[in-house]
Amino acid sequence: MRFFRNYNTIFTHRSDSDRIFVGIGYECRYCGQRRPEGKRWNKAHSVPAFLGNKTIFSIDECSRCNKLFGDKYENDFSKFTNFYRTILEVKGRKKIPKTKSEKIIIENINGVTNINSLDWEAVERKGNKIILNHTSEFYVPLMVWKCLAKIIYGLIPPNSLEKYTWIRESILNPDLQPRVIPCLALLASAPWIKLKCDVFVVLFEHKKAEPEGAPKLIGVLYFKGIFYHIPLLSIDQVLTIEANAKPLTFNFPPITENAKWGKSKPAKLSQLDLTSSDPIRTNQKIELDAIGEIKIK
Ligand SMILES: [Zn+2]
Repeated sequence: MRFFRNYNTIFTHRSDSDRIFVGIGYECRYCGQRRPEGKRWNKAHSVPAFLGNKTIFSIDECSRCNKLFGDKYENDFSKFTNFYRTILEVKGRKKIPKTKSEKIIIENINGVTNINSLDWEAVERKGNKIILNHTSEFYVPLMVWKCLAKIIYGLIPPNSLEKYTWIRESILNPDLQPRVIPCLALLASAPWIKLKCDVFVVLFEHKKAEPEGAPKLIGVLYFKGIFYHIPLLSIDQVLTIEANAKPLTFNFPPITENAKWGKSKPAKLSQLDLTSSDPIRTNQKIELDAIGEIKIK
C-alpha cells in the first residue's frame, strides 16, 4: 500500500493483548522531574481510562503532570466524546456514561440503551436506521488537541522524542498556543467499522528525515468504532513552516487490515480545527443500524 512506502509503524498496542507499561521510569517524559529514590508516582493511563483503557500505562509520567493532564485536557476530551461513549457503550472506570442535553437523554440501564428524545429533531428515522442529533457540552477545542497530542507524545519511542520538543512545551503549559495550527482527522465511523479489540493505538513515522507535504508522525487512536488521526509535525517541519509560511497537506493512514467493514456505507473522514481556546458546543450526529438493544421514548 502506498502509505506504507512512506511510513514505518513505530508503536502499536491493542487492548486484547497483554498489559504494557511504556517509558523509562526514573524521569518524567514531560517536565523532566526525576522520581525520588523509593517513591512512586500515581498510576498513569497512557490512554484515558474513560475510553475503556485497562491495558496500557505510562511509568514516566509524574504525579504532577498526571494531575494537570487529567484536570485540564482529559476533562475536555471527556466532554467532547461523552455522547459517542454513551452510544458505543464504552465502560470507563465504573460505568457507561450518561448523555444529557436539552434535546436528548441517553442512558444505559441494565445493559439496554434508553433514548429519551426531548426535541423532535433529536431522533430521526430513515428506513431501518436511526439518526441521533445531540449538542455537546461546552468544551475547549485546544484542550482536546492537547489531550490527543499528550497521548501520542507519551507513546513515542525515547530515541525519537527530541524531534517533538515543541509538543512537550505546548502540553506542559495549558495556556500556550502551539506553534502550528492543530488539526485532527476524525473518522466517526461507528458502527460501520469495528475492530476485534476495544482500544487500539498506533504510531506511524515518515521514513524521510523531513518529509515535504506530510506530517513526520501520525498517531491513530481508536475506541469502539471511532478513529482519531492525529498528525504531529517534527520541530524541523515546524521551523520550515515558520520560515516559508508553507501549507501542509496530509496523507491519512489506512484503517488497519483487521477492521471489519459493515454493510451500511463507508465511514466519512472529517477534519476538525482544534485551534480555539474558547469553550464551544458542537452538534454531534450518529447514524445507527442497531447496536445492542435500544429503547426509544
Ligand atoms: Zn512531570
